[in-house]
Amino acid sequence: MNGVYPLPPAQLRGAGLTSQRARDQLAAVLRESGIADPHVIDVMRNLPRHHFIDQALHARAYENTALPIGHGQTISQPWVVARMTEALLEFGMPQRVLEIGTGSGYQAAVLAALVPEVFTVERIEELLRQARRRFRQLGLVNLRSRHDDGKLGWPDQAPFDGIIMTAAGDTVPSRILDQLSPAGVLVAPVGSPSRQTLIRMRGDGHGDFALEELGAVSFVPLLGGIG
Ligand code: SAH
Repeated sequence: MNGVYPLPPAQLRGAGLTSQRARDQLAAVLRESGIADPHVIDVMRNLPRHHFIDQALHARAYENTALPIGHGQTISQPWVVARMTEALLEFGMPQRVLEIGTGSGYQAAVLAALVPEVFTVERIEELLRQARRRFRQLGLVNLRSRHDDGKLGWPDQAPFDGIIMTAAGDTVPSRILDQLSPAGVLVAPVGSPSRQTLIRMRGDGHGDFALEELGAVSFVPLLGGIG
């Protein structure tokens, strides 16, 4: 763990339903529901999720549920964030991770506490603007973001040894797969809006990728173009 923020800045630590106690309870829920990686749990125990959502929803920030962030999008359920993060890191620490679908910025911030370099792409400019402000307030320096259609990946920064998609397409776009290094790991939801599966692809270093299914999930759709 690179320990970018062992604890949030004092003004972001919250009180009452956004206090450390609420985050401790969420960490316990994650542990009891099968999240095994203690580093992932520690990061989520420290990262103020309420900082990534509208004030009107702060009281629900540490419930284990997805919440609306505007523009028809959601911040993912904490359990799903934890599961995808540990699935990405299970075979070793990637050095450079690409996320498609910045949204609130929460998943990217979780990753930034664990891996050396994070790159995240969002198609809705206003969401990205808000996420960038949150990253600045948390002092995250190992995270870069881009306003673009994430179906194109981030070619200038490729290859990545980890890729995580937080919006679901029918398949993983080929341009994104092309940006995964030969021994890289990709975690993504794929399928139709009513039936999605979390998949993991792991490269053998020689051009073949093993595919695993990690269970049913529910994500917003991967759209084309920028908004
Ligand atoms: N990782 C986010 C989850 C946000 S929901 C979080 O932690 O909050 C998924 C996000 O993917 C939405 O913000 C949506 O606008 C974005 N998205 C959908 N299609 C996209 C595309 N083609 N390129 C980039 N972002 C996309």
